[in-house]
Amino acid sequence: MKITFLSIFPESFSSFLSFPVIERAVRNGLVDIEVKDIKDCTDGSFRAIDDSPYGGGAGLLLRVDALCNALSAVADASSRTILMGPKGKMFTQKMAHELAEEEHIILIAGHYEGVDERFRRYVDDEVSIGDYVLTGGESAAIVVAEAVIRLLDGVLRGKSSKEESFEDGILEYPQYTHPSVYDKAEVPEVLLGGNREEISRFCEFEAIRDTIRLRPDLLEEDRNFNFFSLHRDYRNESGIIRWLANRLPVPEILYEDDRYLVLSRPKGRTLASAERERILKTMAAVLKMLWSIDISDCPYDESLGKIVSGQRDRRLSYEAWRLIDESERIQMSEDMVFSHGSLRLDRIFVNGNGISCIIDMQYAGIADRYRDLASAIKLLEKEGIGMEEFINALDFDIDEKKLEVFLRIVNVL
Ligand code: SAM
Repeated sequence: MKITFLSIFPESFSSFLSFPVIERAVRNGLVDIEVKDIKDCTDGSFRAIDDSPYGGGAGLLLRVDALCNALSAVADASSRTILMGPKGKMFTQKMAHELAEEEHIILIAGHYEGVDERFRRYVDDEVSIGDYVLTGGESAAIVVAEAVIRLLDGVLRGKSSKEESFEDGILEYPQYTHPSVYDKAEVPEVLLGGNREEISRFCEFEAIRDTIRLRPDLLEEDRNFNFFSLHRDYRNESGIIRWLANRLPVPEILYEDDRYLVLSRPKGRTLASAERERILKTMAAVLKMLWSIDISDCPYDESLGKIVSGQRDRRLSYEAWRLIDESERIQMSEDMVFSHGSLRLDRIFVNGNGISCIIDMQYAGIADRYRDLASAIKLLEKEGIGMEEFINALDFDIDEKKLEVFLRIVNVL
């Protein structure tokens, strides 16, 4: 890869070029670095590089003709041209990865008050390194170049850049070196032992926890890591999981605050990858397991009445309102049990011994038996398992009218 810096102060790059990592990368032919003085591409006359802005205002602007001349002197068809500037797209590790794939990047440093607006037409991107204003784009261009160069194959020796902050969308785990105790602060014991799995587990957990604490903005969505899964606890799932802990195989809560929840990743494989017979038997076993939970002291109410009265935070469609209303009119007998509320095959984990874990409990609570029954029938239908076969496996006398209403209700809720 080649990186060209375009600047009116080319000497600004000399200390960067002498950084050991950069010097070595250049020496080993991993990157070719060119520093081009914009002044060399002008006739050297007074005000050939910069001039005062039309319409008045303080300071000087780099001239569009000087910048374009310099750009054409270094660019070819493979070049990606990037103007450094506070109005640009924010530079990120993701962008560094994208740029590391380019054959040639040209980083153009503005100065004084910036560049003539018309120059923006001649560049591919404008990139900012942060919401603050520097005197010139040289240091910003160095930041971009350094982040890109260390991603090139062979540049970092012994360490993979993949373990670092932002690579997996989270911050890096905290690290320690000698001495093992300093001012009474000890290195975490797990790092002193040689158990690789325990160490990996510790590092992953601490990285997630640091990100929650220091950069929650990076955590846009719920996600699975190797050992843990991270959720936004927007419906008090932590409370439901705690209540279920000795009643159902649910994940372990390893961290919680008022927004986030870190859970253990379930062992085994999901029912989605199981064969037909296993799906049928397990789904029946899951429902029986849920229905056998004693709900007398369960504080989580997911009944239709509660949903309709808006006390559970679901937005109801007009269709849902209509159906629930209809269900009231036909005066269905209520048969309350503990219900999962959002059953899916990939939310049920199985291992050799049976059901190892059921996840995603945010809609769980007391509800009519037909709520999960209807969802399960729909799920099994997609697997080619008919309703009758399932009901037989459940050993259950069905109220067909009620089932019909619930099959429609779970569709729209
Ligand atoms: N007048 C400009 C404004 O208010 O947006 C600021 C110009 S700044 C003083 C001069 C040059 O520094 C810019 O043309 C740009 O190349 C560089 N620069 C300043 N802040 C930067 C940032 N946050 N990221 C990238 N380059 C920056």
